[in-house]
Amino acid sequence: MRNLSKSKIIAYRQCPKRLWLEIHRPELRDDTASEMVFQIGHQVGDVARSIYDPEGLGVLIDIQELGHEQAFARSAVLLGNCEVPVFEAGMIADGALAYADVMLPDSQNGANAWKMIEVKSSTSVKDYHRDDIAVQAHVATAAGVRLSSVSLAHIDTSFVYPGNGDYRGLLKENDLTEEAHSRSGEVQEWIAAAQTVAALPEEPAIATGPHCNEPFSCGFCDYCNRDKVRPEYPLSSLPRFGSSKQARMEDLGIEDLRNVPDEHLSALQILVKKHTADATVFFDAEGAAADLAPHGFPAYFLDFETAMFAVPIWKGTRPYQQIPFQFSLHILDESGSLQHHGFLDLTGDDPSLACAQSLINLCGDRGPVFAYNAGFECRVMRELAGHFPELAASLEAIIARVVDLLPIARSRYYHPSQHGSWSIKAVLPAAVPELSYGQLEGVQDGNMAVVAFMEAIAPGTTPERKNEIERQLVSYCQLDTFAMVRLYQLFRDSAGRV
Ligand code: SF4
Repeated sequence: MRNLSKSKIIAYRQCPKRLWLEIHRPELRDDTASEMVFQIGHQVGDVARSIYDPEGLGVLIDIQELGHEQAFARSAVLLGNCEVPVFEAGMIADGALAYADVMLPDSQNGANAWKMIEVKSSTSVKDYHRDDIAVQAHVATAAGVRLSSVSLAHIDTSFVYPGNGDYRGLLKENDLTEEAHSRSGEVQEWIAAAQTVAALPEEPAIATGPHCNEPFSCGFCDYCNRDKVRPEYPLSSLPRFGSSKQARMEDLGIEDLRNVPDEHLSALQILVKKHTADATVFFDAEGAAADLAPHGFPAYFLDFETAMFAVPIWKGTRPYQQIPFQFSLHILDESGSLQHHGFLDLTGDDPSLACAQSLINLCGDRGPVFAYNAGFECRVMRELAGHFPELAASLEAIIARVVDLLPIARSRYYHPSQHGSWSIKAVLPAAVPELSYGQLEGVQDGNMAVVAFMEAIAPGTTPERKNEIERQLVSYCQLDTFAMVRLYQLFRDSAGRV
């Protein structure tokens, strides 16, 4: 019998086939999404050590350095002594193994005991955390480690970083002692069932379904769907057509949106179906021009790029706060003359104040400020206003001028190549084919922009690489607002021509 790690047991809870593939065919897994999650977990783990061991007396069990066997042996000694905090302590028993994020020496009824704390980068306790904690507590107890308490610590979003590496208050603890211990019998059943699956000579026959994304997006989706013939226009390309409706249609053997009966569809969904089936473009040019007519000049086109940190790095900021490090602003006047301005801060200091001041200086005091899906831009400006009361009135005045181009696009334009999406990246190649994000070198979307920003402000990044990133970020963000300008012009000027 092999010893299954806690993550394997949790994988089994999601899908027995996933567990089997994790063990026997791990090379089939797509790990693209996990790298970022891993990095965030790492940062939170580092901070947890500074919070729970401010004097630095504790011991970190380094699995990479020691290997599993040594890690378990070293952990057993430290847990037996019960003298100093232990981080990543390895425990093995009952066919399972687990590493505890934080173990703090304690006592219970006069005997040595441990406070066990699992640290998560999420902002609340999720159901799958409860499974995780139950496994952890079971393995510890089965390994003979006495636990005085079992808790889960997650990020407290109300925490404001006071600076100087002081992260006390970043984590919020939830006591799950009773619940964790009460589920020991359940955990034993999971381990036994997972052991049976792990020992199967062939992968279990399990079809893909909603469970593939709950609670985690499974990395084996491409493998499991390899033989599935995807319809040209899947049901998922219908806007706001939820997964339960999709499942109902699939039960009826309907997989292509063009075959969904109209009585199951909203007006917007019928429009998408009709123009997809006819391979035609929907463009209400008169309506679009009428929508834009009330908005005069100069016309501003604004887009922010933001970063957020589970562990805030700048004084006065909160966990997961959207912090703008860049914006692009095109200004179009009545004569058709177009200017571009931008802001980008790669110094590694908090860019918020300079960003807000630059925005206020550039936006003047009149004229619409167009954004695409403008709720995001307004939220960012409101955050800035809250953070800098002296700039609040000026920022609120800009917010009052914001006009969202997305609802206009959604009600006036649709091309089948959009596949049910009105994101600017879906609309642009259809409406303005000569412009494309694919032409950009390096950064081509918001996630790539954040990764590039993080790399640029990292201490080890060379000036040459930083310059390269700067060029890429400027080109990317500039295209976002230029795309808005071109859409605006198409919507404003096409009446009577289409
Ligand atoms: S993709 Fe779905 S069916 Fe395949 S292993 Fe993952 S969860 Fe299981």
